[in-house]
Amino acid sequence: MYRFGEKKIKSVAILSLAGLQSRPLARIDFREDGMEKKNPRKTGVGRRGFLSGSSLLLTGALLGASEEMPAKAEQTRIPPSATPQDKDSLFADLVAANRILADQGVVDGYGHVSVLHPTNPDHFYISRWLAPDLVTENDIVELDLNCIPVTGDKRRLYSERFIHSEIYKVRPDVKSIVHTHAPTVVLMGVCGEPLLPIYHMTGFIGAGLPIFDIRKSFGMTNMLITDGARGKALAQTLGDHSGALMRGHGGVTVGSSLSHSVGRSVYLKIDAEMQVQVLGKKIEFLTPEEARLAEAGNQDFPKDWDLWKRKVMGKA
Ligand SMILES: [Zn+2]
Repeated sequence: MYRFGEKKIKSVAILSLAGLQSRPLARIDFREDGMEKKNPRKTGVGRRGFLSGSSLLLTGALLGASEEMPAKAEQTRIPPSATPQDKDSLFADLVAANRILADQGVVDGYGHVSVLHPTNPDHFYISRWLAPDLVTENDIVELDLNCIPVTGDKRRLYSERFIHSEIYKVRPDVKSIVHTHAPTVVLMGVCGEPLLPIYHMTGFIGAGLPIFDIRKSFGMTNMLITDGARGKALAQTLGDHSGALMRGHGGVTVGSSLSHSVGRSVYLKIDAEMQVQVLGKKIEFLTPEEARLAEAGNQDFPKDWDLWKRKVMGKA
């Protein structure tokens, strides 16, 4: 088992990827007290809210812990940065996530993915201003929730980084976020028909995703989330959903890990691609209960992550 930090960090499980990758995908058990601090309603969610599938089983087995173990309220100050080993794994996964999203057509020159700092819920990692497929570990910046680089990095940043910071502020269950301009996702945000789950892989869509219309709060704009106020409005529209569409712009998906948010973004695009082919026709969508039951088996997309990561490995 792989541990980092002090006793405040409960556990880290490494999921072996059967030799398919140069580095394993790190499953990090994020601090639970940070979650409680920001959202008392979530108190008691415990491990189930963070780990799933094989990583949950592995961690539970190693620790002899119950997956229903209640979250503890810890008040000690958390370290500002992750340890070097932790950063290596997380940065490698964030680079892979950027390339996977490009390879899967979720992003092109635009769009981005972030991951919350594993020990400091007031910081997150995201690439500097760069097309996702070109991102390397040297391009990753650590931002606070005001979107200021904590290391004084002067490089240009994504103007829409406020999408990420404002969602992290109000969704302590969210550890990673993807923003997409995928054409079919854009279309489903403007066509007047709700995007709904067509098959079991998109159970996270549930009874439908909210559509953020920037015009309602901000009038005529360039459509972009370029400050905290716009990001906050988007986060409010997102609510407790797994994602949201953005009228005339794109969409956002959230998850409890990098592979979770990435997987959801890929399947959001696939669901939109299928639905646009049959717009205006009677479609037998999953019922909300079927979607809920199907979603229970789609927690982290570990098989997809392995497959997708192998495809983008070795790219310069
Ligand atoms: Zn955008």
